[in-house]
Amino acid sequence: MADVTGSCLCGSVAFRITGPMEKPLNCHCTNCRKQHGAAFRSRIRVHEDHFEWLKGEELIKFYESSPGFRRGFCSNCGTPVVNRPGGPGYKRFALNPHAASELGIPMGILDGEPDIEPKMHVFVENKAPWFEITDDLTQYETLPKSFDPEDFA
Ligand SMILES: [Zn+2]
Ligand SMILES: [Zn+2]
Repeated sequence: MADVTGSCLCGSVAFRITGPMEKPLNCHCTNCRKQHGAAFRSRIRVHEDHFEWLKGEELIKFYESSPGFRRGFCSNCGTPVVNRPGGPGYKRFALNPHAASELGIPMGILDGEPDIEPKMHVFVENKAPWFEITDDLTQYETLPKSFDPEDFA
């Protein structure tokens, strides 16, 4: 599989993904909706060893939206670029012990035609009232009990 690249709206920030794109999903939680100004956030997780900055890392500013969960955006244009879960105080280590080495990346900033699509909806309990889910993907009120790789196959 060819490397996937991504970039922000102004083009000052760019990166490359050199390994698997994992856990593709649509998150309807309030924080993701606010971060994106959209009905939901479509994201993947990537191991930090499989992520390389091409340019603009110094422009990334982080906002800690809940303890141990930092959301990083381009300080020039505001594009959400990379989220870092798994910091001090992070609540979901029981669900995901590897959170500290994962980066969350919005699918909407990937360039070209990456070979990936969301496999589930999470935090549907926070879904925007004006948006209707019309696909057949599994919907979770909050999160699944575990992130079984089979769920993403
Ligand atoms: Zn930018
Ligand atoms: Zn979310």
